[in-house]
Amino acid sequence: MLYRKIEKNGDELSVLGFGAMRLPTKNGRTDEKRATEQIRYAIDHGVNYIDTAIAYMNESLVGRVLNDGYREKVKLATKLPPWNVNKPEEMENTFKVQLDNFKTDYIDYYMLHGLNSSSWNKMLEFGALEFLTKIKAEGKILNAGFSFHGDKDTFKEIVDAYNWDFCMIQYNYLDEENQAGTEGLKYAASKGLGVIVMEPFRGGNLTRNIPAEIEELWNQSEIKRTPPEWALRWVLNHPEVTCVISGMNEEEHIKENLRIADESLPHSLTTEELELIGKVKDKYRELMKTGCTGCHYCMPCPAGVDIPRCFELYDTANTFGNKRYGQLQYAIGLGIINKGYASQCIKCGKCLEHCPQELPITELLDDVSNDMENILTKILPPVFKFYLSFDRMMTNRKANKK
Ligand code: SF4
Ligand code: SF4
Repeated sequence: MLYRKIEKNGDELSVLGFGAMRLPTKNGRTDEKRATEQIRYAIDHGVNYIDTAIAYMNESLVGRVLNDGYREKVKLATKLPPWNVNKPEEMENTFKVQLDNFKTDYIDYYMLHGLNSSSWNKMLEFGALEFLTKIKAEGKILNAGFSFHGDKDTFKEIVDAYNWDFCMIQYNYLDEENQAGTEGLKYAASKGLGVIVMEPFRGGNLTRNIPAEIEELWNQSEIKRTPPEWALRWVLNHPEVTCVISGMNEEEHIKENLRIADESLPHSLTTEELELIGKVKDKYRELMKTGCTGCHYCMPCPAGVDIPRCFELYDTANTFGNKRYGQLQYAIGLGIINKGYASQCIKCGKCLEHCPQELPITELLDDVSNDMENILTKILPPVFKFYLSFDRMMTNRKANKK
């Protein structure tokens, strides 16, 4: 296993982190025995960063996995969900419950979860930065950070607003310009922050249902690698990346990722290999229905449409053949967290003049709305909102009993 040092705190993290978002299941529930064996196997082979979140509903399980001496071997990372905190005191309540979930006294890496412009403003208003400072001073968290899904400018604003130890960004060869992107990665690293990368496979888009045209390109390489190996090696080729999180749940994938993590030094890809990845990226862009690069220049939309996310999920559902995942993310993510469905477009035309790709945004949004808005977008947001308020009530109740 290779390790990379974070300038800010001196920690050396394994270049591969275990993401507990998609643990193995059996009969519709997490298969605890198998998850335990998998996570402990990864730790025994050098992984020292375990990432979860209260939103993944498995903190207690991860806490049990880390019994028998494994807690001391790893940096445990989890997150505070801004969308499920309605009052400043609920941050403290949520945190108390999280410590209890893990049966631990401290969290190594604690993040504000999935920040974008609106959740960042909400967190500022609630005094989240003061809250992080307080729990850090009390030794209840060792490092403060944030995970991010917004635009580049907001990313830089957040990086500059606090003495963060680390951040977590979505990054892969198709998202160089999307969200924080390469610019954000370099910016955060230049400030000494550890940068944890999530979604190296873009939610599985780069590793499943590979189109024949893409297969053909990969086959041109003299060295034969699987699509996940190309994707992981590309991320780790960047010296600014500290660690890449992979949501693993298959033993074979864990072994393959561990092998890749043993070999992926910064700048280890050759010029020819990088050119090949560039060709794959261009071909994917050609195949994608929208052609959106996720640059965010069209934002903000006065009607609240999250244009890049609408296009990203539409492409996920169609070009990448990941219909169910794309539609669920669209219904829940855009319906509740970002509140920016394509059908909200009022056709003011403001976005059109800002798109460097000159995309027919309004027409494409009509396609998105026709294809992605259905019974799920009507039913899921209210059901999920009800679940969130019930969950919030239970969290507050639990915290107050302590
Ligand atoms: S045309 Fe539609 S998507 Fe574009 S800025 Fe106006 S309302 Fe927003
Ligand atoms: S629609 Fe155009 S401006 Fe907006 S994110 Fe996509 S490529 Fe960028």
